[in-house]
Amino acid sequence: LPDHRRRLWGAADVKRTLPERDAHSHKGSHGKGLIIGGSRLMPGSVAMTARAALRSGAGLIAVSTDPEAIPSISPYVQEATFVEGKDGGQVPVLEGYDGIAVGMGLGRTSVMVTVVEQLVHEKETPLLVDADGLYLIKGFLQELEKREAPTVLTPHPGEFAHLSGLSIKEILNSPFSHSKEFAEKHGVYLVLKGPSTIITGPDGEQRVNISGNAGLAKGGSGDVLSGILLSMMMQGEDVMNALSNGCFLHGSTADLLVQDEHAKIDLLASDVIEGLSRTFRTFS
Ligand code: AMP
Ligand code: MG
Repeated sequence: LPDHRRRLWGAADVKRTLPERDAHSHKGSHGKGLIIGGSRLMPGSVAMTARAALRSGAGLIAVSTDPEAIPSISPYVQEATFVEGKDGGQVPVLEGYDGIAVGMGLGRTSVMVTVVEQLVHEKETPLLVDADGLYLIKGFLQELEKREAPTVLTPHPGEFAHLSGLSIKEILNSPFSHSKEFAEKHGVYLVLKGPSTIITGPDGEQRVNISGNAGLAKGGSGDVLSGILLSMMMQGEDVMNALSNGCFLHGSTADLLVQDEHAKIDLLASDVIEGLSRTFRTFS
C-alpha cells in the first residue's frame, strides 16, 4: 500500500478529528444505540459495553439481554434502558436506532442466530459485531456487502481465524494483507485487535493503533472497546475516524491509568471505563 493508505493513528489525529459537543445539543444529537448481548452466565459483558458507550458520549443506550441478567446489569449502568421482544421473547425490534452492537456475552444459541440474521438484513443501521456475534455471523458473510450502512467486525486473531478460515499463525504473519483482503471482499470495516490494532476499511484503507498495554490483556477489555466504538460511530460521520479514535482512546486510557493509579497487573476493564474521563479531558 502507498503510505497514505496505511498509517499510524496518533494523538494529533484524534485531536483533529474528535467531534466537539455542540453547546445546543440534546441527547438525540448523540445517537441512540442498541446493545444486544449478555446472558444469564455472562451479564458483565454487556453491562460494560453499555457503560463504556455512555462514558464515551452516546445520547441514549438500550440493552437487549436475557431478562435474568437485567437485575445485575441495571445497577451498574443506571442510565441504560432495557428492551424486550414483541412477544416478551428475545428478538428485539431493530428499527429506530442510530447504531447497534451485538455479540458480547451473547452465547451462541439458535435464537441468537435469528437475531444476527435479522441484523444483517436491517440494512440501514450501522452495525458492530463482536465476540459471540462473530461466530453467529459466519453463515451470513456473503450478505454483508449488500448492507447500506457500515458493518464493523471487531475480532481478536482467534475470532478472525474462525471468520476467515485462516490459521492464527497465518493471520499474525501477515495481518495487514489478510485484513485488507477480508474487508474488501465482504465490504466491511475490520478492527483486528491485539497489542497493536489494525483498522481496515472496505476500500482497503488501513490505520494502526499502538496505544494500550498488557494491562488490557484481561476479560472485558474487548467489551469496553465495543462500547466506545459504537458511541464514536454514532457521533461522527467518518467511520474510519470514529474507529481509529475509539481504539486510540481505549488504549490511551489504559496507558494513563498504569502511570499512576494502577499497574498492568491489577488494571480491570471497568477501570478503563471510569478512566475515560481523563483521556477525554486531554482532548477538550
Ligand atoms: P478482547 O480480546 O476481545 O477482550 O479484546 C482485548 C482488547 O484489549 C483489544 O482492544 C486489544 O487491542 C487490547 N489488548 C489486549 N492485549 C493487549 C496488549 N498486550 N497490549 C495492548 N492492548 C492489548
Ligand atoms: Mg472479546
